Amino acid sequence: MNTKHTKRIVVKVGSSLVTNNGEGLDHAAIGMWAEQMATLLKSGHEVLMVSSGAIAEGMQRLGWTKRPQEIHQLQAAAAIGQMGLVQVYESCFARFNLRSAQILLTNADLANAERNANAKATLETLLKLGVVPIINENDTVVTDEIKFGDNDTLAALVSNLIEADLLVILTDQGGLYTADPRHDDGACLLSHAIAGDPTLEKMAGGAASEFSKGGMLTKVLAAKIAVQTGASTIIASGREPDVLTRLLAGEKIGTYLSPANKN
Ligand code: GLU
Repeated sequence: MNTKHTKRIVVKVGSSLVTNNGEGLDHAAIGMWAEQMATLLKSGHEVLMVSSGAIAEGMQRLGWTKRPQEIHQLQAAAAIGQMGLVQVYESCFARFNLRSAQILLTNADLANAERNANAKATLETLLKLGVVPIINENDTVVTDEIKFGDNDTLAALVSNLIEADLLVILTDQGGLYTADPRHDDGACLLSHAIAGDPTLEKMAGGAASEFSKGGMLTKVLAAKIAVQTGASTIIASGREPDVLTRLLAGEKIGTYLSPANKN
């Protein structure tokens, strides 16, 4: 991938990754991403983070080992967990002299013209100030991403909002495979495809874990949304060392979903 004109980047991290499969917020992983973001900011990039993990962290704090079915319990867990989530982000980012800011958004906020304009203006101002916005869904008032997506859709809508050049979806898988690698030994990693190609949706299927509601399907659909404003999407493992800085140096990691006219 040619990263020469890639300036504005949205990085999305899912619940399993942020909480090390529900074991509690993974300070080491968040610290590693923060360090890479500090490097990217120094080289003139603008970075926004969309982070899940509030429900998973809330479940941990409450001692719940099984994800509840009841939506208000999930929303309560998110409210509890969001406190821990932003605490860890703030302290990890501070270690690299980065400032972060909490933004809680809903898809409906972005569909409303006035709220959309306000969210955009706030994010643009934060980016100008050199601050990394840490965005999550406002789970108290809506349930979209709780039911389906684990913030994949929100990350794509944020990419549209601020006209990002690149959406990086970090996950606990190596990227998009031709079949589910957890169940099919013949599955192979797809390194490049066109965002919005309908065959990708069939390939991605369902699949999520105890701690999150996202699977590959919502990631493929997120790429389809992000490309509407010209953004490419990369789905890659968040456990890969220096994944962000290596991707931005042009290294091929994971699955690259590009606009039709780009390679
Ligand atoms: N916004 C939610 C969170 O941060 C979505 C993830 C989920 O449904 O587990 O926890």
